[in-house]
Amino acid sequence: MDVREVQVPGWERVVVARDGEYHGIVAVHSTALGTALGGTRLWRYAAEADALDDALRLSRGMTYKNALAGLDAGGGKSVILAPARIDDRAALFRAHARVVDMLGGTYITAEDVGTTPADMDTMAAVTPHVAGVSSGIGDPSPHTARGVFRALQAAVAHRFGAGEVAGMTVAVQGTGNVGAWLVRLLREAGANVVVADVDADRAAAVAEEHGTRVVSADAIYDVEADVFAPCALGGILNVETISRLRASVVAGGANNQLRDADDGARLAARGIVYAPDYVANAGGVITGYGEMAGWTPAQCAARVDAIHDTVRDLLRRADTSGILPHEAADRMVEERLAAAKG
Ligand code: NAD
Repeated sequence: MDVREVQVPGWERVVVARDGEYHGIVAVHSTALGTALGGTRLWRYAAEADALDDALRLSRGMTYKNALAGLDAGGGKSVILAPARIDDRAALFRAHARVVDMLGGTYITAEDVGTTPADMDTMAAVTPHVAGVSSGIGDPSPHTARGVFRALQAAVAHRFGAGEVAGMTVAVQGTGNVGAWLVRLLREAGANVVVADVDADRAAAVAEEHGTRVVSADAIYDVEADVFAPCALGGILNVETISRLRASVVAGGANNQLRDADDGARLAARGIVYAPDYVANAGGVITGYGEMAGWTPAQCAARVDAIHDTVRDLLRRADTSGILPHEAADRMVEERLAAAKG
């Protein structure tokens, strides 16, 4: 195997490896708080530079997510550049596992976009530094949705003075794994829910099961609601959509909701309280970590529920310091990292 170390300022270790059809990158951003945790993404990239950018951006994101989730874990991420045709999927993951193993436990991987628990089983035969195997917690979505629900309650309390969602209207964008679980929790708590999905059949099925209204995927931005919950794709809070929102709170599970650096300010200018995505959607990571750390299900649930207090604290801090919620979140992480580094 051809293994190349890449020096990137701000990253502890970045490794690019090739072996036949296999071409992968592991980026360890920080182990200041503990072993770097972050999944393996299998994706078709146009060039190695794009894959490297993705690994760097995602690994840094994991440092922030894990730190604010209160975990003693750092941030890392790895990517496998998918070949045009995958002849031997297991061979790809065995090769990747050898690279992960080479890092000697400074990085633990799990599944991510394009990878499955079965792929993690393949890797686990080569290295112990793998989570998310098929005998593990399984689908993280219910835990993610629970954390989103708690973040949503905290943001509602911040905006309206009480965290009770009963009687409120929540517009949920995306009724996939996380969205459907969130709809369930919201309905159990007595909220009125409006759903939308580009997959109209999926939206209709969730609406029927939980007794919600359905609108078209485009109309969800215009719904007269108290809360808008993005649970589909990233980049959906942007100059076009923010001006259309009728909600006073945005709290959802999607990653990278703000399209560009100004979108946080755009929300604030409209008086919309935003629960930063990487804080709100950490329930799955918290539960995965808890499983490795030997926490009981009740302990995992308590740590997921604590997302509420993290969101409450960062929103208060944003107000008192005159900064945006995602900036307050980043500051809390940077303080934790600085304290760990002594
Ligand atoms: P999913 O693929 O199960 O669901 C996404 C849903 O969004 C699909 O039903 C899809 O049809 C729909 N969708 C796509 N584009 C849409 C649009 N423009 N308008 C309306 N609906 C649209 O994915 P998921 O696991 O539920 O994850 C949802 C989001 O949450 C993603 O951004 C994911 O990265 C993030 N996330 C998920 C988890 C988890 O535990 N699953 C954890 C953290 C973050």
